[in-house]
Parts: sequence; C-alpha cells; structure tokens
Amino acid sequence: MLKFLHNWRENRILRGSSYTDSHWRQALSRLPLLEPLNQDELDRLQRLATLFLHDKSLEGAGDLVVTTELKLVIALQACLPILNLGLDWYDGWVSVVIYPAGFTPLHTEMDEYGVVHEVSRPLSGESWERGPVVLSAEDSLGGGLIDGHNLVIHEFAHKLDMQNGVANGMPPLHRGMSAPQWSKSFSAAYADLQNRIAHGKSVAIDHYAATAPAEFFAVVSEVFFEQPRVVQQTYPAVYQQLVQFYRQDPLNV
Ligand code: ZN
Repeated sequence: MLKFLHNWRENRILRGSSYTDSHWRQALSRLPLLEPLNQDELDRLQRLATLFLHDKSLEGAGDLVVTTELKLVIALQACLPILNLGLDWYDGWVSVVIYPAGFTPLHTEMDEYGVVHEVSRPLSGESWERGPVVLSAEDSLGGGLIDGHNLVIHEFAHKLDMQNGVANGMPPLHRGMSAPQWSKSFSAAYADLQNRIAHGKSVAIDHYAATAPAEFFAVVSEVFFEQPRVVQQTYPAVYQQLVQFYRQDPLNV
C-alpha cells in the first residue's frame, strides 16, 4: 500500500512537471558526461531529476537568477550518482544555494585536532551536514565536460558520505559489501596518493584528494563518472568498491 502511494505521488509530480523536451535537450547539450547512458538510463535520470527539483529548493544567492537550464543541469548531474540508488539517499536536507561564481565562505571550520580555522580561500562548492549544498553556477554549468572534474558530483558525493554521520570517506554500504574491504582499498589508495605527491611523482588524481579521506572519496567519485578508466587503472580496488556502491559500472555501459 505504501509503495502504491509512493508511486502515485511520484507519478503525480512527474505528470505535473512543466519541463519540456526542449528544456531537457538544452540541459543535456551541456552534459557530454551523460552521452554514454542508454535511453532507459536517460529516462530514469530525467525522472529522478524532476523529483529532485520537486523535493529540493534551489536558491540563487545575491542577485543570481536560477534559470530552468541551470536547475536541470544541476539536477541531472546530482542524480547521476544515485541513478541506481534512489532519491532517498538525498534525504535529510532541502537547500541547494547557488552563487554566480566562486565564493568566499564566511564560516569557520574545525579540523581533526579541534582547531578552528578561518576559511577565506574562494571555493566553488561546499556541503554541510544536514544543511545545504552550496555550488557555484559557473562551475555547475561547466561541470559536464569530460575533464575529470565535476563540482556537482563532488559535493553530492559528500552528501552520500554524510548519510551515516560526518563525512569520513565511507558512506553507508549496501548489504553484501564489506566495510573492512572498503577501508582497506581506500586507505591503501589514499596513502599511496599522499606518498606519490610527497615524492613529486606524477599522479592522475587531483592532489586535493590527498587532503582528507572525505575529499578522496568525493574526488575519486568525480573521476569515476567522468574518466572511469583513470580510477580503474590507478586504484582498481577502489574502482571495484565504487562499482558496488554506486551500482553502476561506467566502463561497462
Ligand atoms: Zn570536498
């Protein structure tokens, strides 16, 4: 019965959607990242994005106007990681705050030793536990090019990670997955990345991944969807864990 009500609610939202084929085409044209998806996956992604936009509030900061194109481009990228997981994975928060370009956060942050730092470097995104996702419009619109960087996927990967508390690089794992296996694969890769950077060796993964385990998970998630072969060749054990977690294998579409 609950399932029936759930489906009924979703169908009602989808039928009431005002987004046209031309809106979707316009948004998709900015997202070469989605080209490998088949028609069924693309249909499911559009459906999820529509429900996402119904449930979440996308708000422009300052005088930024949140256009339909911007909404759809963000929603499609945000829903790619949960295509086979479901929208429930983004439960517990509502707002996406969008700045025109990189912004300077006004808050302070506390590091693992309990020291509070003033954060003043400009950022292009942030995710707060149980709070908003903050994105730059410029980086969101340009994120779907296949260059290994994707701000929206990065910030939403943090949201998935936070589904079981603070972001620590391990989201809630599905039944059948092994937490020790996850930790072993990720810890080894994280240590290897730090080691390579310390010794000036070339690395295919953005150095920012070596700043914290949570950042490692968010950065390799970006690369997993944008340039999966890079993750698979650099850290194959991590790639396998991500395939199990996201229930997608971008190398086998
Ligand atoms: Zn991050």
